[in-house]
Amino acid sequence: MRFDVFSLLPQVLQPYLDASILQRAIQNNLLEVYLHDIRSWTTDKHHVTDDTPFGGGGGMVMKPEPIFAAVEDVLGSPPACPVILLTPQGRTYTQQIAQELSAHPRIALLCGRYEGVDERVREHLVTDEISIGDYVLTGGEIPALLLIDSITRLIPGALGDPDGAQDDSFASGLLEYPHYTRPAEFRGWRVPDVLLSGNHAKIERWRRDQALLRTLRRRPDLLEKFELNKKDREFLKKREQEEVDSTNNNLRPTSES
Ligand code: SAM
Repeated sequence: MRFDVFSLLPQVLQPYLDASILQRAIQNNLLEVYLHDIRSWTTDKHHVTDDTPFGGGGGMVMKPEPIFAAVEDVLGSPPACPVILLTPQGRTYTQQIAQELSAHPRIALLCGRYEGVDERVREHLVTDEISIGDYVLTGGEIPALLLIDSITRLIPGALGDPDGAQDDSFASGLLEYPHYTRPAEFRGWRVPDVLLSGNHAKIERWRRDQALLRTLRRRPDLLEKFELNKKDREFLKKREQEEVDSTNNNLRPTSES
């Protein structure tokens, strides 16, 4: 998988790419990331990449010429792969979009700065727009890294554990079950006995139940779209009944009242 990142601050991405799973994926030729400094495609003496907005108002806008020149020089015209603009106005990024994008062998990511890019870049150069959430950052570099990171996890062989991404939250439609490691007891808090039992079928069932419970409590919206099997439904029904019983017990008048 290849990423071409266009930015005014490409150097801020490098340290993250030089560590851990991304570094290993690059060393194993599973991932290629090319960082392009948009400023290199300016043609004026002062290498200007931004200008004041027509119509007035504060802030600066990234000029279209060096962006078009950079993207077309690297990717051809029309561009040889999807060109994604990172913008708070794009479609909100999800694991599903990561899955969708991981099917492309190559993706270009365009990082904005200041007030963002001249609108003609959005209209005539980019093919997709992605937001990482409803908040505003100073630049598109963190969003670009976020996409690279989450998509790399989906490249077969990129994770140490080949099934590592399979149980990740959102991959199956549920939040992931809780994890524990050694020691089995810490400050008097014990790891659930089932995890120490060595019974793989029971562990699997416990993990599935915990994933269901966690999703029900934290993200019930995900459960609405999730296809439950018979055992899942039985488990959730039992939990619901337990909760109703415990509420009723709490509401029951005590002998003193
Ligand atoms: N004025 C713009 C607006 O209100 O939509 C925000 C510009 S922001 C200060 C500068 C750049 O940061 C954007 O062009 C974009 O590349 C990036 N950025 C900021 N927030 C983002 C988000 N939530 N998702 C993706 N990119 C974001």
